[in-house]
Amino acid sequence: MSECLPCDLESADDAAVVYRDETWSCDVAEGYDVPGWFILRLRRHAEGWDGLTAQEAAGFGVVSKRIAAAIQAATGAPTVYFMSFGENYPHFHFLVITRPEDLAPEFKGAGILALRATNRDLAGSLETASTVRQALPAT
Ligand SMILES: [Zn+2]
Repeated sequence: MSECLPCDLESADDAAVVYRDETWSCDVAEGYDVPGWFILRLRRHAEGWDGLTAQEAAGFGVVSKRIAAAIQAATGAPTVYFMSFGENYPHFHFLVITRPEDLAPEFKGAGILALRATNRDLAGSLETASTVRQALPAT
């Protein structure tokens, strides 16, 4: 393990990978393994928006849209949150969080992060990853 979680995800098990191409990967990450939570990351180590090439920046929109569509198709979630702080890991990445239909109001928006303390479930996360992977729309 390095000190960069997004870099370490390069060696994630296939079962944890929802989407991967030459540039982007979306994976279940241990420590953030709440079912329906994923990390979408640039595969190479680059920090912040400034670290992206113009081509990578444009591709981010395309891949984000595909992944959000697959999550919504697989889970029926009304929306998908994309959060990026860049504090713990400056490596360019987003926490992609499925927002369930029946989520209590106090957990909506950034409040959803509180569920990390109580809702981690690796097996459930991998199961959701599998259904999202199958729902990915064709390019
Ligand atoms: Zn990194």
